[in-house]
Amino acid sequence: MNIKQLEIFAIDLPLIEPFIVSYDTYPSMPSIIVKLTTECGLVGWGEAVPDDHVTGETFEGTYAVLKHRLAPQLIGENPMNFERIHELMDSLVKNAPAAKAAIDIACFDVTGKKLGVPVYQLIGGRYHENFPITHVLSIGEPEKMAMQAAEKVAEGYRSFKMKVGRDVASDVARIKAVRERVGETIAIRVDVNQGWRNSGNTLQALAQLEEVGLDWLEQPVVADDIDAMVEIKSKTAVPVMIDEGICNFRDMREIIAKRAADKVNIKLMKCGGIYRANQLAAMAEMAGMECQIGSMLESSIGSSAGFHVAFSKKVMTSVELTGPLKFSKDIGNLRASYKIPFIELGTGVGLGVEIDESMLAELTQYSDVIR
Ligand code: MG
Repeated sequence: MNIKQLEIFAIDLPLIEPFIVSYDTYPSMPSIIVKLTTECGLVGWGEAVPDDHVTGETFEGTYAVLKHRLAPQLIGENPMNFERIHELMDSLVKNAPAAKAAIDIACFDVTGKKLGVPVYQLIGGRYHENFPITHVLSIGEPEKMAMQAAEKVAEGYRSFKMKVGRDVASDVARIKAVRERVGETIAIRVDVNQGWRNSGNTLQALAQLEEVGLDWLEQPVVADDIDAMVEIKSKTAVPVMIDEGICNFRDMREIIAKRAADKVNIKLMKCGGIYRANQLAAMAEMAGMECQIGSMLESSIGSSAGFHVAFSKKVMTSVELTGPLKFSKDIGNLRASYKIPFIELGTGVGLGVEIDESMLAELTQYSDVIR
């Protein structure tokens, strides 16, 4: 089974409401879809959602890497040879993890279809039956965030990830407002997205949040400052998670060597796809760290790829793939798998997602075919 053709689609996924984090505001989500067709006529789907702030990949650059560097060299390769495919991609372009993730996901999808099994069956089998799904609250005024949290509790959510990262004083007010509104039994995780910059600000914030009861604190300091995470971890009882600071093997090696985190947030778009995420998960497990599969807000394709990794690994203790709940239009049908407050992964072959190609055409801004 060899790759005959790769189609690349630049699309724009409309969000129900803007997604706001400390470093940007997204009115809609640009995404790159890859359609892989084999000589035997099977089709696999992949997706790249590059985040310029996190991996340095731009949307345009990722599209160009796929079109000019990766896709032409992959024609004729067997998509079931994951190790070989990754070695080939790494020899062509350093880094570029989102572009590589798109190829990797399409290869896993088509391999599952070829073998008649879900992707999770290729990477360890089903471990988790279902996962609680967390609602992500965009940064807003304390009262607005508290109100949204209350609405989501009424819908059935039992946990929140609060996006903060403006400044310590207003962020502490946001977190306290949500805690007061939802009560003690709802789990609250806080993602600062680097916004508190350093360990001094972070420890100051944590001192004011002692009574609030946080599940964990995610990426309070700038991504590259692993030593600041070491200091924070040594001075607080709140578990700390690294997100922007962990992309690849090199980052993971430093985090393990320095014991810099209790948890790591693995994203397919940061590490290069399903195959690499599995390898990072094994490294984390070896070091006694828990893992989360996080998201750049991917469509049904990228989100389901993340779920297959999460559902197959014991070391995965949370998932945050909520793209399909946040888009007003999606190219796949994963939304039906969300049974709030849980996500239930189906047993369909490959990614288990049905693609609506007319919706893909509607959302496509430009595309290319490489054969
Ligand atoms: Mg994060």
